[in-house]
Amino acid sequence: MLGAPVVEHRFSLITQPLRYHALEPYFAHVRDRGIVGITLGEFDSRHALLFQEFERLGLSFRDRLQAALGGLLADLHDQFLDLARITEVDVIICDLVSDDGVAGFGFSYAIGGRGVAALKALDVMGRELVTGTQAVHPEANWRRMKAACNRTGRGPNFVGLAALDVAYWDLHARNLEMSLGVAMGGVQRSVPVYGSGGYRPNQDLDTIAEQVQRHRKQGFKAVKLRLSGRPDDTKVIEAARSVMGPDQWLMADMNEKGNLSTARALIAAVLGNGGLFVEEPLPTEDVEGYRSLSRAFPGAIACGEHMQGCEVALPFIKDGLCGVIQPDLAMMGGLTESLRLARLAETFGIEVTPHFLPGLFVHLAAAAPNVTWLEDFPLLEPLFDNVPIATSDGMLTAGSGAGHGLLLTSRAREQLISA
Ligand SMILES: [Mg+2]
Repeated sequence: MLGAPVVEHRFSLITQPLRYHALEPYFAHVRDRGIVGITLGEFDSRHALLFQEFERLGLSFRDRLQAALGGLLADLHDQFLDLARITEVDVIICDLVSDDGVAGFGFSYAIGGRGVAALKALDVMGRELVTGTQAVHPEANWRRMKAACNRTGRGPNFVGLAALDVAYWDLHARNLEMSLGVAMGGVQRSVPVYGSGGYRPNQDLDTIAEQVQRHRKQGFKAVKLRLSGRPDDTKVIEAARSVMGPDQWLMADMNEKGNLSTARALIAAVLGNGGLFVEEPLPTEDVEGYRSLSRAFPGAIACGEHMQGCEVALPFIKDGLCGVIQPDLAMMGGLTESLRLARLAETFGIEVTPHFLPGLFVHLAAAAPNVTWLEDFPLLEPLFDNVPIATSDGMLTAGSGAGHGLLLTSRAREQLISA
């Protein structure tokens, strides 16, 4: 089914440091999930005081609080989101409007900033290839856009393209009056979510145990720790395991910090404690290192969030270098390539656990039966209204409305800077 021509495109960027601009909606997000009470009791005293101050003054006094308590707010936000080394996230926004008035909303992001390069790339694509063109099927659009990157490569082009691709899929599903996952060829289903936010390398053991318990109370049937690549990671694994329930799985992320020998030791420790997988034990470029590890630990390695396109993932999939592939929306250039990756992985019996954004990837899960887990790491969710919330037993299902369902909050819209 063809859509009406796109008559308007608008690309924009939120450039302010995430730690501040997301703070207020983050509180709302936390409240929606019903965990404020838990948080109040479990942060240290100065954070508890700050929460009480927010409650007393009301969130509309955010600016006054920011002026008075700026550093403390930033610290608090970091603790929440495990962003100790991430000072900002640039969020790239794409709005499309078709001739018959149907709108599509898409987004992408650059963790750590420098999203302006992706925004620029997207703007060039938009002016040349979007406005005035027929809104054909999103996959056809994606191929057209990718072809336009032929001489400038993937890089920021893909990061920008992701926002456009999500907007095209949203527009397409809204034209069909279908939930996105159904429009992508699937059927809605509930998918388990694992707790991932709040874990940092080198955290003290009590903090880790508290966060595991918090996630357990939320109903998550798995948690993913962050490891530092040091020998005392074994203590972290054991501390988490000691407070986990018999119905919970353990996962661990090395964030590319290992080498062959440390990775071997830590994968063995995780698996020895009932772990499902270890994520990015080596830098993604170290394909031969992954080959070696996969021989020792078949199926126990996850990776993918740094891969741009199926071709990069191909050796990992066809040679079994990982048992779990993890597409990142921005790096993959959007949902189209993430779906293609999921299909490719399915053929080889590889699981898919997408990189954060459960409220969007729940639609990919509808279309791809090999999506086994979604990751709760609430980095961008504070920017959105209508975020689906996991049930008390840790399962997530997409809403029944048309499109992907996520909407940019009015507060976030006020902060947009046009390309
Ligand atoms: Mg990771």
